[in-house]
Amino acid sequence: MTTTKTGLCIICRHMRKVETERGSVFFLCRLAAEDPRLGKYPRLPVLSCHGYQPVENPPV
Ligand code: SF4
Repeated sequence: MTTTKTGLCIICRHMRKVETERGSVFFLCRLAAEDPRLGKYPRLPVLSCHGYQPVENPPV
């Protein structure tokens, strides 16, 4: 998965990748539990987000 497909979420410290037994992948926004303006499972790609905080070592 790349930033082109996910936007900011994949390089955000609030994101948690969820994989199902069937191999589907979802991106859970943990900040959504505290901020009702955010969706728990954001519609991707997220190109702009007030809650975005970059991870120290991005995967891409
Ligand atoms: S805070 Fe924004 S950029 Fe970060 S995981 Fe949630 S929706 Fe994605």
